[in-house]
Amino acid sequence: GKVYDYLVVGSGLYGAVFAREMENAGKRCLVLEKRPHVGGNIYTEETDGIHVHKYGAHIFHTSDVAVWNYVKNYAPFNNFINSPIAVYKDELYNLPFNMNTFSKLWGVRTPAEAKAKIAEQIADLNITEPQNLEEQALSLVGTDVYEKLIKGYTEKQWGRDCKDLPAFIIKRLPLRFTYNNNYFNDKYQGIPVGGYTQIIENLLDGIDVKTNTDFFKYKKKYKNFKKVVFTGMIDEYFDYKLGHLEYRTVRFETERVEEESYQGNAVVNYTDREVPYTRIIEHKYFEPEKEAAQPKEYTIISKEYSTEWKPGMEPYYPVNDEKNSKLYEAYQELAGKEKNVIFGGRLGQYKYYDMDKVIAAALAEAKKELKK
Ligand code: FAD
Repeated sequence: GKVYDYLVVGSGLYGAVFAREMENAGKRCLVLEKRPHVGGNIYTEETDGIHVHKYGAHIFHTSDVAVWNYVKNYAPFNNFINSPIAVYKDELYNLPFNMNTFSKLWGVRTPAEAKAKIAEQIADLNITEPQNLEEQALSLVGTDVYEKLIKGYTEKQWGRDCKDLPAFIIKRLPLRFTYNNNYFNDKYQGIPVGGYTQIIENLLDGIDVKTNTDFFKYKKKYKNFKKVVFTGMIDEYFDYKLGHLEYRTVRFETERVEEESYQGNAVVNYTDREVPYTRIIEHKYFEPEKEAAQPKEYTIISKEYSTEWKPGMEPYYPVNDEKNSKLYEAYQELAGKEKNVIFGGRLGQYKYYDMDKVIAAALAEAKKELKK
C-alpha cells in the first residue's frame, strides 16, 4: 500500500489541524477514526437547519488572534455571545455573576451597593480558614450567591455535598460589577454558522481518512508510516498497564420538543439540587442568524446530567487530582520512551483543553515536526 509520513489516530480538532499542516508542507497523512464520523467532540449533526452539538455544547472563544484567524479559514463564524441564564426554583438570574444578578437578588442598583451587600454577608459568616468547598465559596461571595447559584449546581456536578468537597477546587469566583452578561472574557467569540463538523471536513479535505477504524484493532494492518500521532487515551495506548486514569463525564438526553421555542436562550443552568440535570441546551439559539431557515413547529434541546465515569464510558473531563496527576506522569514517562509516537490532544495529554488551546498546541507540534 501507500506509504504515509504520519498515521494520525483520531479525527478531532488536534488530529485534523496537525494533518492539515503536514499535508500543506507536502507530508502524507492517514487519519484513523474509531467513531463512524470525523470531528471528535466538536461534531455537530444537522436536522432541518438546527446543528445539534452531539457531545456537549461548544462555544468558541479565544484571545489568541492567530488562532481566531486560523479557524475562520475553515468556517464562517457568527458573533454569538454566551449569556447563560440560571434558574433557581422559580427565580431566574443572569450569569456570570454581575450587576444584573445582584440587582435581581437584592434590588441594588450601583456597584457600591452590591459590593457592600456581599461584604456584609461575608463578614456575618466569620469564616477565617475555609475547611471545605462550602466555606471557601461562602467566604468569597457570601450567602445568597452561594445558596442560590453555586451550591446545588456544584453538588450535582460532583455528585457530593459541598461540605464534603475540598476547598481548593474553588480558588476564585469572579464577580463582575458591571451590567455585562457576556460569560467569557476573551476578545473573540462565536459559533460556526453551519455547525462545527465543516471545520474538520475542510481541514481534512484531500487527506485520507478511515472512519469506524480503531487503531488498536488495525495496528498490524496499517504499518506503512514513519510516525504516529496519537490523540486517543494515553492509558489505553499502554494497555492500562499502570491502571486507569479517571474522568468525569456527562450524559446528554437530546429530545425534540413540539414548540417553536423551549427556553429562549442557548444555555440555561439549573442551580437547585432537586432538578436532576445541570443544564439545558437549546441548539437553535447558537445560530440566531439562521432563524428564518429553522423549523417553527419544533426545537431540539439537550439535558445534561453529570455522571460518574466508569471505564468504557466517554471520557470527558480529566480529574486533575494528585492521584491521577501522578499516574499521568508515570504514563508520560512511558510515552517518552516510545519511539516515533507523538501524544497529542486532550486524551493523549490528559489535559482539559479548550478548542483554541488544542489548535495552538497542534500548530506548535506541526511546526516542531517540520523543523526536524
Ligand atoms: P477529541 O475531540 O476527543 O478527538 C479525539 C478523537 O480520537 C475522537 O474522535 C476519538 O473517537 C478518536 N480516537 C480515540 N481513540 C482512538 C483509537 N484508538 N482509534 C481511532 N480513533 C480514536 N472547548 C471550547 O473551547 N469551548 C467549549 O464550549 C467547550 N465545551 C466542551 C464541552 C464538553 C462536554 C467537552 C467534553 C469539551 C468541551 N470543550 C470545549 C473542549 C473541546 O471539546 C476540546 O478542546 C476538543 O474537542 C479536543 O480535541 P481533541 O482532538 O484533542 O480530542
